[in-house]
Amino acid sequence: MAASLTHLPLLQPDCGTYPCRDDCCSEGCDVWPAERDALLASGLAQPSHFDEGYEDDEGDFLFRTSLGPRGCTFLESTRGCRLHTTGLKPAVCAAVPRDAREADEMNADGMLPCRSEWRAFP
Ligand code: SF4
Ligand code: SF4
Repeated sequence: MAASLTHLPLLQPDCGTYPCRDDCCSEGCDVWPAERDALLASGLAQPSHFDEGYEDDEGDFLFRTSLGPRGCTFLESTRGCRLHTTGLKPAVCAAVPRDAREADEMNADGMLPCRSEWRAFP
């Protein structure tokens, strides 16, 4: 039986060169309390970089990163995430989109202009 495309891992264009303005980061991201604590302790973040926290539909308590001129407050001024090489980048940023359906939803919301160039592994 052929595997469902929905559950195949996805490739993507080179984020460092694709002319997207980091749109996948335009709405910020949800951060676990422990991730927020680690960012604050490291000095990489200030409390103003997060909202006051909220409980999501599954009962998890999360903090949303605040927004700056280009989207997430942790975006560099020209390109990329300033947490990328720190070891403290929020886990969700590496995990999402988790499948083709989520990628299509992000694209429909204007957050993944590169989506048409993503390819699933054969
Ligand atoms: S929008 Fe696409 S190409 Fe641009 S940074 Fe995000 S995933 Fe990479
Ligand atoms: S933390 Fe970095 S990767 Fe995650 S949404 Fe913000 S800028 Fe993008």
